[in-house]
Amino acid sequence: MTQEILPQTHPVKSREQTTCCVVGAGPAGAILSFMLARKGIPVILLESHLDFDRDFRGDTLHPSILEVMDELGLADRLLQLPHTKLSLVAPPGGGLRFDLHELKTKFPYVAMMPQTRFLEFITSEAQRFPSFCLVMGARVEELLEEEGQVRGVRYRAHDGWHEVRALLTVGTDGRFSRLRKLAAFEPIASSPPMDVLWLRLSRKSDDPHGLMARFGGGRALLFLEREDHWQIGYIIAKGTYHEVRAAGLSALRQAIAERAPDFADRVAELQDWKQISMLSVEANRLRRWYRPGLLLLGDAAHVMSPAGGNGINYAIMDAVAAANLLTAPLQAGQVTVADLARVQRRREWPTRVIQAIVNLMQDRLLKAALDPNGSFTFPSFLGWPLVRKLVPLLFGFGIRPEHVQQQARRRPTWSRVGTWITATIMVLALAWIIRRLTRRSEQPGTASQEETPSC
Ligand SMILES: Cc1cc2nc3c(=O)[nH]c(=O)nc-3n(C[C@H](O)[C@H](O)[C@H](O)COP(=O)(O)OP(=O)(O)OC[C@H]3O[C@@H](n4cnc5c(N)ncnc54)[C@H](O)[C@@H]3O)c2cc1C
Repeated sequence: MTQEILPQTHPVKSREQTTCCVVGAGPAGAILSFMLARKGIPVILLESHLDFDRDFRGDTLHPSILEVMDELGLADRLLQLPHTKLSLVAPPGGGLRFDLHELKTKFPYVAMMPQTRFLEFITSEAQRFPSFCLVMGARVEELLEEEGQVRGVRYRAHDGWHEVRALLTVGTDGRFSRLRKLAAFEPIASSPPMDVLWLRLSRKSDDPHGLMARFGGGRALLFLEREDHWQIGYIIAKGTYHEVRAAGLSALRQAIAERAPDFADRVAELQDWKQISMLSVEANRLRRWYRPGLLLLGDAAHVMSPAGGNGINYAIMDAVAAANLLTAPLQAGQVTVADLARVQRRREWPTRVIQAIVNLMQDRLLKAALDPNGSFTFPSFLGWPLVRKLVPLLFGFGIRPEHVQQQARRRPTWSRVGTWITATIMVLALAWIIRRLTRRSEQPGTASQEETPSC
């Protein structure tokens, strides 16, 4: 006999029973649902929005993601959709050059595809499986709990409240995760030194392709090529948005034109602050990603700073690992806390290592780039042959890329202590190397305009 902890305060219009309820159809939720449904596991995917057409949240599909798509038999169809390819980042001055062509993969490039298109594609492919159900316009607001175990969720739709009961609930509901709050998980936050203003300017047929960056005079600008326009990230020092706003739109237009004279002819397209959205950059991670019956993945478990351009990659790799590790328990109808802990153990250390690397880069490079009184040059170590090979590898695949496991099986339990010791040694070693390299390489110089491989 179970006891319902949460009092039922609203009349519920429908009650569904499923094996896995996934909350949030971002990259992590969409891929996880697809992978479980293709194994015949009943999945209900709940998404609060009515469609996938949303604010810009990154377009990058890294080689590691494309390999996963290939393993799922989706790569050919995905790459028939309009996209651009980013494989080489080389500043005009001939200094830095990062080449993804040299990566040993069928996909030696980052495919730049609007997230809307990618999510529509994955969810429509998932509809082929009878065990998959997508509910759009379903805003999850409550957890169902019985005897300390999460048993599903209640969501609000246009016609009222609904309930989904599930063996496992997965929260892939992003950086402002509702499930994280409901489960009372407190993230450990780090504070990146910048905020980003996102805006668009038109693209011309003779513009260069790919990803560009401009630094200098305390400002940094990122230009991401999209089909008919440039998505532009104007990076400002943390907490200075009100100053930028007070200086006025014409000052912003002028600042962009000064850093990027090739765009001076179109800054007049910016006529209203409504064309500009402010992203308060945050990064954080949870100590624990799970509770009995509940698992958090992707940004819900660890918000990545956009400086690394790797949030989508890590969210999808979490989903692949979770699908690999949980398919057998879900098929068997029993998911233990140890099963959920295994997912966190597998994905936590790659996440922490990349967050540590991005934090160091932000502290050393972005702070210098955003200091109006300072001067900025890229550290010389970025040009070393080994680093020129490592950067594309790290950018293209991330740390511990996941692969689709075709046969569902329960994994043998790894030694927890062994995993942690290995992870800690790797984090400390990497932090030490980067600290040494950046210290040695920081040299005063003149402001320069350079391109960088990621945002
Ligand atoms: C401006 C910006 C630029 C970025 N640029 C890049 C980039 O270039 N490259 C990169 O790799 N990453 C980038 N990122 C980060 C990237 O978008 C995220 O890391 C990634 O989308 C995380 O995926 P996710 O599936 O965990 O969560 P999300 O993509 O955030 O998806 C969460 C989903 O859950 C839904 N949801 C939320 N609450 C509820 C609820 N209560 N009920 C039901 N559904 C809910 C949301 O509507 C959303 O669809 C950027 C982020 C921002 C904000």
